[in-house]
Amino acid sequence: MRYEMVVGLETHVELNTKSKIFCSCGGHSAAREPNDCVCPACCGMPGMLPVVNKRVVELAVTAGLMLNCEISRYTTFDKKNYYYPDLPCSYQITQLNHPICTNGCVTLKTPSGERGIHIKQIHMEEDAGKLVHVGKASYIDFNRTSVPLIEIVTQPDFRSAEEVLVYLNKLKSMFRSGGISECEEGAMRCDVNISVRPEGSAELGVRTEIKNMASFESIERAIRYEVQRHIDAIEFETEELVQETRRFDDASGKTFAMRDKETAADYRYFPDANLMPIVIDDEWLEKIRAEMPAAIDEKADAYREAGISEKEIDMLIHNHNASELLDGVAAFGCDAKNAAGWILTDCAGILRKNGKLLGDLEIGAEELAAIMKMVDEGKVNRMSGRKILSAVIETGVDPVAYCKEHGLDAKVDTSEIERVMDVVFSENGKAVEDYKNGKVKAKQALFGACMRALKNTADTALIRELLDDKLSKC
Ligand code: ZN
Ligand code: MN
Repeated sequence: MRYEMVVGLETHVELNTKSKIFCSCGGHSAAREPNDCVCPACCGMPGMLPVVNKRVVELAVTAGLMLNCEISRYTTFDKKNYYYPDLPCSYQITQLNHPICTNGCVTLKTPSGERGIHIKQIHMEEDAGKLVHVGKASYIDFNRTSVPLIEIVTQPDFRSAEEVLVYLNKLKSMFRSGGISECEEGAMRCDVNISVRPEGSAELGVRTEIKNMASFESIERAIRYEVQRHIDAIEFETEELVQETRRFDDASGKTFAMRDKETAADYRYFPDANLMPIVIDDEWLEKIRAEMPAAIDEKADAYREAGISEKEIDMLIHNHNASELLDGVAAFGCDAKNAAGWILTDCAGILRKNGKLLGDLEIGAEELAAIMKMVDEGKVNRMSGRKILSAVIETGVDPVAYCKEHGLDAKVDTSEIERVMDVVFSENGKAVEDYKNGKVKAKQALFGACMRALKNTADTALIRELLDDKLSKC
């Protein structure tokens, strides 16, 4: 018999905010030492009151708009009660009754065609702390406590592990380019709900949930393992399937039972009376929508239209910093395709040389546009342009001032160039002779000698023209 998997995903994404969700502590990415981003509020001291971080609401709404959700105009927080040492209040503030976004959908382009995945809801919640085990001792680090998360819950619409990966990569690209989350490893964690049924059956099989996986690779391996375990259990009665929560062990590649499946009732959810309901009115929603970066597909289409290659589009979509710079440079009137080359090849190369990545790029759109214009207008040649770029990236100097100071302006004074050429010709008599005797390559040697004599600053097209002219007269 053939089986099909039925998979739903709950994805926790850490939001890119300056502070935590209910207090003013910096996010845990700001932390240097354990427990240095903590305060009485996020440590659950008696009597402290939570205050909602407005930015969290805005980023959650932005995520909802990107995933075509309905945005709740009235949204509330609930307490989810459970005891665990990394949870100082013994409850997590989350959303059960009125989540901020519902009923969304996302279209995936998979190798086997387009697939629509329904989004059940997106809710806001706080992260828990971290337990650190060293030898026989256990420590608690509260830096991550109350770091803002959104949890994106899909309907059980996935039918293959490939679809899950396409979905996760799409979320990652969207959230990065939208400034919602950097989605680095650990900032995106998934719970996967899995069941298996005979192909064509409308009934759902017994469902298990694999908790808290942080790498896409683990998620894929876990799904493949768990699906096979279900099929074996049904087909060969190797074991009895029960509804339960499991964990995936990376080393063995297997899943293990953690606990019986809990239901909402186990958590004694109740509304958090310390937090007022949030009302999102038309004005606020419109403001968030207006500030929303172009959705990823639209953005890719615009880049395609500008003639940027698919490989470059892929790099831009995955790099918020780079695409933002490109859009900025284009706004200064520079050609987008040309800018893509400057950013993805030249800037990336200079950064690589300094052991950095594109995400570390700090040049302003105005500076890069100024350099591109100097080159386009023939004021400096491409090589000097790169030299200026390198200085701007490495030391933050002003491009125009640097160009002047280092005499990088392209020499356009033809009489001076001709004088230099005379000297080059007299010093390279052999090359001139060779060229006249039909050795075309000798021209390149003369060109190189002229460029060196002009300290590589001359307009290359002009040199080639004058050189051809001079050789034709020899
Ligand atoms: Zn705090
Ligand atoms: Mn959650």
